Order: sequence, then structure tokens, then C-alpha cells
Amino acid sequence: MNKPLLSILGIALAITGCSVKNDPAVTTELANNGQPAPLTQPGVCLTFDDRNLDDWEAMLPIFDKYNAHVTFFVCGNIDEAMAARLKAIEAHGHAIGAHGKLHDNYHKCVTEKGMTPEEYANADSLGQMEDFRKYGINVTSYGCPMSSRDDKLDAILKPHFRHIRTGIFPKDGQSWAEVDNAFVPIADVANHFYFNGKGIDKYPPNTQEQIDGAMARAAARKELVVFYAHRIAPDPAKGHHIEPVEVERILQKGQELGLRFYSFNELP
Ligand SMILES: [Zn+2]
Repeated sequence: MNKPLLSILGIALAITGCSVKNDPAVTTELANNGQPAPLTQPGVCLTFDDRNLDDWEAMLPIFDKYNAHVTFFVCGNIDEAMAARLKAIEAHGHAIGAHGKLHDNYHKCVTEKGMTPEEYANADSLGQMEDFRKYGINVTSYGCPMSSRDDKLDAILKPHFRHIRTGIFPKDGQSWAEVDNAFVPIADVANHFYFNGKGIDKYPPNTQEQIDGAMARAAARKELVVFYAHRIAPDPAKGHHIEPVEVERILQKGQELGLRFYSFNELP
């Protein structure tokens, strides 16, 4: 999505509001410290961003069919109606993650708008967490708006989130399976704060071959790979989207490869 459009959307979303939550009852086995136990099965985190609730709710039966848990990173304000919808999504075993109240680019806010990293975090993710808490929504993860982050922001976020998701952009001609920092050994997930997600919205470089290659690597090397998209809608659809048939194809393929679809709440 282009930046001006994202900014407009961010403003619109900040005005309209949104909500998020995680349900401990549906997470995997918990270790003594309340966090999920270390993982052994390689897997995929499918994540979907923004406020595409209508699309996401329509996909719930498909995720159920494959026993797949995913993460929805929700931006904007959270009101009671949104919180109720998010809780219903959680009841299927999925995680709700924060995606920022500002939903604006961190680097831009710091370098162009004069915000400090602390001010950005307070206005964006931490401000949104107040909404989540108000409605009893337990959020453990944050999807960085426009994949923008740095070590300074990470340090501010670490006390509040177990993991955050940012983005990875392979070089021209590079296969996704070759992008080493898009993969984390499954036994090492707890030692990683941020994960480099790969965008799988529908556009030319995103082929089934690339997606399948990345999943095959994760399966062969016992790793976790993280993907992100926005809407889940058949063509023709407005905005960044992946088609429902392709999401189901990924679920089928992952299952064939012996991968598990983890929500961010299930990551230790
Ligand atoms: Zn977004």
C-alpha cells in the first residue's frame, strides 16, 4: 500500500476506532511462568492486518477446518462493539494483536513529526493497549505499522509485548526460502523478540511457488516462518488482499508439509 494512502487510512482508523484481544483459554499448553511451552513442531504464523473484520469472520470456518490458529493485528481505536467481535474471533483459538492506534510509520513520526520514540509508543501501541485492557482483551503481540521499528522502540515495547512482527523484503531475484532472517529455528522462538514477516497479499512477486518454497524450508529445517496479509477477499477486491482460495491452499499445503499454524499467543 502506498504511504499517502496508509496515512489517510491511519487517520481514518484513528477516528473510527477498533479493538483487540487474546484468550488464554485457547492457547497451547502453558509453562509454569504462564507463557506457552517451547515449540517442537515447525510452523507458520499467518497474520492479517488492520480492520478487515468482515473478511476475517467469513474465514473462520476454513481456519477451523484445518485446526489453524492465526493472528489478527488490529489498528485504531477499540470500542465495545469491536471488542465483542474480536472476542468471538478469539473463541476460535486465534490471537488478536495490537497494530497501533496511530497506525503510522514510526520512523516518519520520529524524523518528520518530531515525536520521541516514547511518545510514539505511548500514542500508538501502548495507547491501544489501554483500550484492550478496558474490554478485557489480553494482547501479547504487536504488528509494527508499515513494518517500521528500531532497537530503541523495541526496548520500549519489550515490557509490554512478548513478540512483535515487522516485515522482510527479499531482493529482486531472491527466492523467499533464501532469506535467512525470515526464518527462526522453532526451538529458538522464545529468544526472538521480533519476527520478519513476509507479505503475501496478491501482487506479482507473490507466487504460490515462493510461498510453498518458504514453507518447505520451514518444514525441512524445523523453523517458524511468518506471513502477513490484509483483506481476505476474492478478486476483484479493493485494497491489499489475498484470495480466500489461496489462504485455504496455504493451509492445505502447510498441513501436507507437517507444519502447524500458530497464533502469536502460542509462541513462547
Ligand atoms: Zn496496517
